[in-house]
Amino acid sequence: MTAAVSFKSVSRHFGTVRAVDNVTLDIAEGEFFALLGPSGSGKTTCLRLIAGFEQPTSGRISIFGEDATATPPYRRPVNTVFQDYALFPHLSVEDNVAYGLMIAGQGKAERRRQAGEALELVALSGFGGRKPSELSGGQRQRVALARALVMKPKVLLLDEPLGALDLKLREAMQGELKSLQRQLGITFVFVTHDQGEALSMSDRIAVFNEGRIQQTGSPSEVYDRPETPFVADFVGSSNVLPPEMVRELTGTSAPASLRPEAITLGEGTLSGKVVSLSFLGAATRVEVDTARARLNVLLPKGRPVPAVGDAVMLGWPADALHVMEHAHG
Ligand code: ATP
Repeated sequence: MTAAVSFKSVSRHFGTVRAVDNVTLDIAEGEFFALLGPSGSGKTTCLRLIAGFEQPTSGRISIFGEDATATPPYRRPVNTVFQDYALFPHLSVEDNVAYGLMIAGQGKAERRRQAGEALELVALSGFGGRKPSELSGGQRQRVALARALVMKPKVLLLDEPLGALDLKLREAMQGELKSLQRQLGITFVFVTHDQGEALSMSDRIAVFNEGRIQQTGSPSEVYDRPETPFVADFVGSSNVLPPEMVRELTGTSAPASLRPEAITLGEGTLSGKVVSLSFLGAATRVEVDTARARLNVLLPKGRPVPAVGDAVMLGWPADALHVMEHAHG
């Protein structure tokens, strides 16, 4: 099947900064795809390359099989929801949503009809007459969404769409975005630095670091089988065991990841000393110094919690240790 968006060895350099560095990527039609990585890792630049606001320094981008190089942003079947929403403060909600249609030369009645449909889609019917300043953050976010959707893009680009919202609203909107995407069946590409958000919402995730993709895979692939120490650490704060430690434990000399929640305290093969405790509500995080590494252990509520300074034995199921034999980062 033709990919909705395809990057072939795409780079975008700004002077000496390699914002995007030799990225190859296929995003399938209908996918909910996350670009995940820390600040400055190149996610937004990738999104801007898809939108056509940036041109690659080298490499090739195609959208639904067509080379996009010569296609200006407004001719691409994509639309962007910006992080700060970029609503026009002096226009009503309806006129904000209908703006792109007006630019495209649609008549007034048709604009009203389509804007009304888009507002209904994001559950904001009846808000068309308000100004953006008369809306909550979550409602503004929905207006931005409606404004992008009214143009009927085949690919919707979302740049940290939930970044400005508080935690509760964020979680509610995560569910809404996901069901909206299912309902519309179009491809969503969204940028986030929040691994929890990427894991809970996406069909697939590309994990970025320093302009490069470290790993592309389903949420469970990047979480349970990280290919590099960076992915292990960034996606879910896994412990990264140094190669010499892994050699002692398994015979293989390569870094390995070990999930904090897979470790038990009590019976075990590795001895250590508790250096700190943090109460997280549903669990307690225990930091333990062992001879070769400091490890994080996540104890679910109800398990006995040791004291700082206690000597402890650490254990884990054999399959919890994930050796990264091909680690390259
Ligand atoms: P954030 O999560 O902070 O938005 P990001 O992962 O989206 O970060 P980008 O915005 O893509 O990262 O930036 C990647 C790198 O490219 C950064 O080092 C940034 O400073 C640089 N960069 C981006 N745009 C430009 C530009 N127009 N001119 C110069 N450097 C730029």
